[in-house]
Amino acid sequence: MQRHRHFETLAVHAAHRIDPHTGAVAPGITLSSVYSPDAGADYKYSRVDNPNRRALEACLAQLEGGAACACFASGVAAASAVLHALAPGDQVLVSEDVYYGNRLLLTRELTRWGLAVSFVDTTDVAAVRAAFTERTRLLWVETPSNPMLRISDLNALAEMAHSRGAKLAVDNTFATPILQNPLALGADLVVHSSTKYFGGHSDVLGGAVIAANEDEFFHRVRAHQITCGAVPAPFDCWLLRRSLATLPLRICAQSDNAARIAGFLLRHPAIAEVRYPGLSQHPGHELAAKQMRRFGAVVSFRPRGGRAAAEAVVSACELFIRATSLGGVESLIERRAAGEGPHTATPPDLIRLSIGIEHADDLIADLDQALAKAAGT
Ligand SMILES: *Cc1c(COP(=O)(O)O)cnc(C)c1O
Repeated sequence: MQRHRHFETLAVHAAHRIDPHTGAVAPGITLSSVYSPDAGADYKYSRVDNPNRRALEACLAQLEGGAACACFASGVAAASAVLHALAPGDQVLVSEDVYYGNRLLLTRELTRWGLAVSFVDTTDVAAVRAAFTERTRLLWVETPSNPMLRISDLNALAEMAHSRGAKLAVDNTFATPILQNPLALGADLVVHSSTKYFGGHSDVLGGAVIAANEDEFFHRVRAHQITCGAVPAPFDCWLLRRSLATLPLRICAQSDNAARIAGFLLRHPAIAEVRYPGLSQHPGHELAAKQMRRFGAVVSFRPRGGRAAAEAVVSACELFIRATSLGGVESLIERRAAGEGPHTATPPDLIRLSIGIEHADDLIADLDQALAKAAGT
């Protein structure tokens, strides 16, 4: 593949080829778990590698501008592989409001395995510097973060991590490579929940790790993928590769919708706070404008009236679907703390919207009527 092609072109053509036997333009799904060496291809067993996973990994490596990619059965499986590439006794520094599932993975599983885990406000570079110890090997950053949409300076954090002999891993799920390229900003690893924007249709689970270099660390990630076996099925890889073709269109349309909705909420008298990095009031706005192309499609807000008001707004929506997760073509709404469970640090009145590809006017009308209805209850 020629270098320097645009995302829209890569999303369609990367690692895509016409089937040499049939001329089929759409790729097939190779379900076989075993491969005969007599064909002269280098496949053996589907857990180790298979054509659909290889195509997906090659496409994601190109989109993120990385040297290699390993795909997993879920986003947390991808995170787990990166963290297991460390050694017991190593320390990992993690963004304070990291995705709740990754927090559980770190605090419940990996500390038991011997990893030292410290949470730090990664929007504060000085605080990160102060948190580094002799044992710190990895800095794990989520930007924009879930669900507070805090923005961390990837360039500065990469420099700091490298000066201390550590690697920087970035969870790029919220931005996708279309809006933000952590590897170009100095990160060593990018991690994704493919379940979100990559899949885009709320019908497949997956995860991915993309590495700037195919170094020893990445070889350990690859070994973990194959040896521990949390691999995606060929059909899931096929679905994801198919969805990637429309990722640039979807994420841009969704971000544009989200920007309009954030503006609407900001002006609404029943709203106490809107969190969206595209708003000039957002504390990370300038940084986001520098390191992202658009501001993403997740909007968080707090209505006046606390938790009860938030619950009333969520219940009163007719078009927004009440569900957790994000990244699909359909807009979703949830009171985030309810989805995260007992030890959450998320404010109890925070509503998280995942904006889809519907018409922004219809979404705004739905929120408007829900806010009116909630105010009347
Ligand atoms: C959903 C999510 C994950 C976890 O992915 P799964 O596919 O659910 O395992 C990780 N990071 C972020 C930012 C997410 O939103």
